[in-house]
Amino acid sequence: MGSVGICGSDVHYLVRGAIGDFVVKAPMIMGHEASGTVAKVGKNVKNLKVGDRVAIEPGVPCKACEYCKHGRYNLCADIIFCATPPCHGNLCQYYTHAADFCFKLPDHVSLPEGALLEPLSVGVHACRRADVRLGSTVLVTGAGPIGLVSLLSAKAMGATNVIITDIMQNRLDLAKELGADHTILLDKDSDETAIVMKIHALLGKEPDKTIECSGAESSIRIAIQATKSGGVVVIVGMGKPNVTIPLVNALVREVDIRGVFRYANCYPLALEMIASGKVDVKKLITHNYTLEQTLEAFENAKTGAVRRREVGSKNSQADT
Ligand code: NAD
Ligand code: ZN
Repeated sequence: MGSVGICGSDVHYLVRGAIGDFVVKAPMIMGHEASGTVAKVGKNVKNLKVGDRVAIEPGVPCKACEYCKHGRYNLCADIIFCATPPCHGNLCQYYTHAADFCFKLPDHVSLPEGALLEPLSVGVHACRRADVRLGSTVLVTGAGPIGLVSLLSAKAMGATNVIITDIMQNRLDLAKELGADHTILLDKDSDETAIVMKIHALLGKEPDKTIECSGAESSIRIAIQATKSGGVVVIVGMGKPNVTIPLVNALVREVDIRGVFRYANCYPLALEMIASGKVDVKKLITHNYTLEQTLEAFENAKTGAVRRREVGSKNSQADT
């Protein structure tokens, strides 16, 4: 293994021991945002050889069900996904994976960039589900890693006007550096209607597409109300299982609300985006640790997540 990122879900499993129906019942190796160097190949493997540096797409589906056959393998009920219990992840020295879910990195793409193909693929899939294209005006709600990769993907796919919201200024500052055209800092006094009006005023129009990446209930409501009639809202953020949304507002304006679950067939495009220089993910890397420093890395990631929740809890907008 070369580089492994720590995702919010890894921290969640460590702290809470479960995400929804996925419960950690036995010790589990973490890690699913990963890259490495091929040490050994099976006798039938033709696409890779020892020494190749690869990005590892962490979910290997059954390849036989209806979803797999239609290419929507992220919906496969039998997918084996790294670090989703009961499957081990790849934050370890050696790890075995299906060769067709390993993507050879060109020499100029680093192993850390290879690991970042995983979250970037979430952004690519979200933009594909939202049908972001040349000239799109896009609202991204939440500027965490997933909001940022959605911003990067939207820009790379031709979005010309992207606005992003968050409750933390430092996250918006990074979003601005990564190419956001506008940012909005939400605070506890912000009224939802006023926020929607501010979004429209800053963009000079209503967004065609909205990518919800905070999981906050109020943010989902804002996403629906802000999107133009006939537009699309994709929900990436996973917050409370039940939320109150302005459904009639969405239906009378034919705003499509679509779910996003991980990604399918997005690694090749995400790799092209990085390899061609269209997208630079290096700014998303904040810390580097050795494998032996894993506990320290998790402590830091955990503290960062706790700090975000504390800021959020003082804030009516932050109900994640
Ligand atoms: P994160 O917690 O780092 O980022 C969330 C961001 O939203 C934070 O910056 C936070 O300050 C901001 N936020 C909180 N309340 C807000 C509000 N009311 N308005 C605007 N911003 C607000 O998490 P992340 O790693 O970026 O992931 C984002 C979400 O996406 C999480 O809910 C995660 O579970 C989900 N996720 C979903 C998929 C999928 O396949 N659907 C994949 C990966 C992550
Ligand atoms: Zn399947």
